[in-house]
Amino acid sequence: MKSPNFTYCRAKSIPEVFELLDYYGEDARILAGGQSLMPTLNMRLSSPTALIDINHISELKNIQEQSLGLSIGALVRHYQVETSEIVAKHTPLLHEALPHVAHSAIRTRGTFGGSLAFADPAAEIPAITLALEGVIHVCSKMGERQIAVQDFFHGLYSTALEHGEIITNVLFPKNTYSHFVFKELTRRQGDYATVGIAIAAEFQGTQLIKIRIIYFGVSDRPIVDMNLAQQLMNDRFEQENILNKAQLAGDDMDISSDIYHDAQIKRHLLKVMVKRALFDLLGKACNGAI
Ligand SMILES: Cc1cc2nc3c(=O)[nH]c(=O)nc-3n(C[C@H](O)[C@H](O)[C@H](O)COP(=O)(O)OP(=O)(O)OC[C@H]3O[C@@H](n4cnc5c(N)ncnc54)[C@H](O)[C@@H]3O)c2cc1C
Repeated sequence: MKSPNFTYCRAKSIPEVFELLDYYGEDARILAGGQSLMPTLNMRLSSPTALIDINHISELKNIQEQSLGLSIGALVRHYQVETSEIVAKHTPLLHEALPHVAHSAIRTRGTFGGSLAFADPAAEIPAITLALEGVIHVCSKMGERQIAVQDFFHGLYSTALEHGEIITNVLFPKNTYSHFVFKELTRRQGDYATVGIAIAAEFQGTQLIKIRIIYFGVSDRPIVDMNLAQQLMNDRFEQENILNKAQLAGDDMDISSDIYHDAQIKRHLLKVMVKRALFDLLGKACNGAI
């Protein structure tokens, strides 16, 4: 099916985006990589009156080391994140996750900001941003604001972004974690996750001192399992404890079904994946590897 008619506008600067958003009002949409937006138009799931193309705004395209951390511009394509040496050095978890985002053709167009703004609950980039405590920088004609990632996702395809605001970049604070694990279960390589896990952890010797455990594909947004994190830190990080504690994964959380799996199966798969992820973490911690 073809998309409904819309007016196409190419913005050459951020102020011009705001002018166009003002002019076309609430029915205008930002067009970044178009990899999620265009299918929704073609399937007639949305019918914006105007698309405002931001692809020619160069200041949104940078990956930069800054004093506070690593900044990734909203228009940085998935393949650029995947192949960036700076990203691999500063945010190895992101580097590990990116090859799992869709297929290479989609990764050449899809953008970092687009993935966050679209807020698919089974997408990798929102989950990794949550694991690494990224800060989302947005701006509108009223000025700039920074949104901590834990306040950004409001539900299924829903975020803290208000009309007239665009994401400009995401800041990943300097790493306070040394060990990372990424795991996802998909029906086929490149599909959205049935169940996904992202873990960032810090050890002192063999003692686990800090851990963030994120699940995606199991709820209406990526979620943090604080209960399991606390349970793991209360005990020695060793095989038997891990086996027992992995059984607690997601216990106090609402797990949603999707079109292929009901919630009960997802909960079971989550526990299996968490067990595997924690064993991977144990292996990395024992080897002293990142
Ligand atoms: C077949 C297929 C499989 C896919 N599989 C996966 C997958 O496994 N994992 C995954 O994570 N993704 C997957 N994707 C989605 C892909 O990663 C998209 O690129 C991404 O979700 C959206 O990025 P985009 O740049 O294409 O955004 P667009 O499609 O251009 O925009 C998406 C939404 O975000 C808004 N938006 C875009 N940029 C901004 C901005 N800077 N500020 C404010 N709003 C903005 C748009 O207005 C729109 O509402 C898949 C897509 C397809 C078509």
